[in-house]
Amino acid sequence: LVDFPYSHVLVLGLAKSGTAAAKVLIDSGVSVRVNDLKTSEDDEVVAQLRSIGAEVIVGAHPMSVLDGIDLIVKNPGIPYENVVLKEAEKLDIPIITEIELAGQLAEGTIIGITGSNGKTTTTTLVFEMLRNSQQPVKLAGNIGIVATETARELQHNEKMVLELSSFQLMGIKTFRPKIAVLLNIYEAHLDYHKTFDNYKEAKCAIFQNQLQDDYLVFNADDPQIMSEASNAIATKVPFSVSSKLETGAWIDEKDLYFKSEKVISLKEIVLVGAHNLENILAAVCAAKLGGATNDGIRKVLTTFTGVSHRLQFVSNVESRLFYNDSKATNILATQKALSSFTQPIILLAGGLDRGNSFDELIPYLKHVRGMVVFGETAEKLRDTATKAEVPIVKSAIDVQDAVRKAFSFSEADDVILLSPACASWDQYKTFEERGDMFIQAVHTIK
Ligand code: ADP
Repeated sequence: LVDFPYSHVLVLGLAKSGTAAAKVLIDSGVSVRVNDLKTSEDDEVVAQLRSIGAEVIVGAHPMSVLDGIDLIVKNPGIPYENVVLKEAEKLDIPIITEIELAGQLAEGTIIGITGSNGKTTTTTLVFEMLRNSQQPVKLAGNIGIVATETARELQHNEKMVLELSSFQLMGIKTFRPKIAVLLNIYEAHLDYHKTFDNYKEAKCAIFQNQLQDDYLVFNADDPQIMSEASNAIATKVPFSVSSKLETGAWIDEKDLYFKSEKVISLKEIVLVGAHNLENILAAVCAAKLGGATNDGIRKVLTTFTGVSHRLQFVSNVESRLFYNDSKATNILATQKALSSFTQPIILLAGGLDRGNSFDELIPYLKHVRGMVVFGETAEKLRDTATKAEVPIVKSAIDVQDAVRKAFSFSEADDVILLSPACASWDQYKTFEERGDMFIQAVHTIK
């Protein structure tokens, strides 16, 4: 950290990002105190941080952690109602997230991507498009790789593709991506942000520090985003699935274009889903601006079958196409998945019961030939299927059993789709575990 104006920093929250932030600050000669409620005294990381000179206070949030502090680096997950943060606000102590540090450390080019949905998919696409164009590029951020760690090693000729959550973006001051991507803004995370305006403001922070020679890639089909983007100083690069654009990425019935240049035929793209087309257009803009070639982009779009557990193509078994959308933990996501196919579908759904009904799925179940339901919500989903007049409905014990049952009554050219519309915690530790069980069952079905 060069010209860092703070000398006594409190790192609040000791997940991977907090630990990385503490290390960077100590290495830069800053005095660091760390405070975490949930970590215990005998945790390995406590000793490790003490050994490099941090003062570590765990198991409580005493107000004395603020004594002498001139900056707080908070974990994105900690709400601003936290007692320490409330007090810090009163004392006018600035609060940032580790992303701000990453921005100050990174010597290379930052490509930042945010939105309510599609972040991981778009981030992965941009990274792969650049990598396949022989560009030196690294991946980091909300995708599970601590940004400061990547930023520290980033060479000036390298690019860092960063997935950014609204929580991370709330804590920036000077962070300035060369290329910013704003995918969409839906009502989400209002438990944390309180109001939609706050949430929108956090997302739009991605371009607040950009200058004229930076780029803002944004969704021209979203009126909210259009009006926000009109305030941006950066050079605007829109994308649209509905109209031709002079300056960004767009499609006609057959092909995908960047400006006036054809990049790929739509039929060559293997990733399914209308929502993914938006992610692809956004990714093409960012990748082109970052120096990707059409060949590199094509290599990715003709082979990339999806990020794991997000409408991911798994296998073709006897002309049945299996898709894993285990990440679909709510009704909206399952609606999107069902809208992504025109062929007959057998839907595998069910999981944790949050008390909601599933009737909002009914209009999307028209081309569903069969449903296999499992988990706590099995009976509710069976009722929904009956109301929607789904011809075949079966119950299963778990996802593996559901795969076997679906296969037993499936026909050639069916899509067999795991898109549970529910969280996994009634039967599985995570949605990833549930998706892995699905994949395993598909691979051993014969
Ligand atoms: P995120 O990282 O923002 O959670 P992902 O790329 O992991 O997004 O996708 C998660 C889910 O969000 C997908 O399975 C799909 O249901 C939905 N989704 C993805 N992209 C979009 C989009 N552009 N618009 C609306 N929904 C989307």
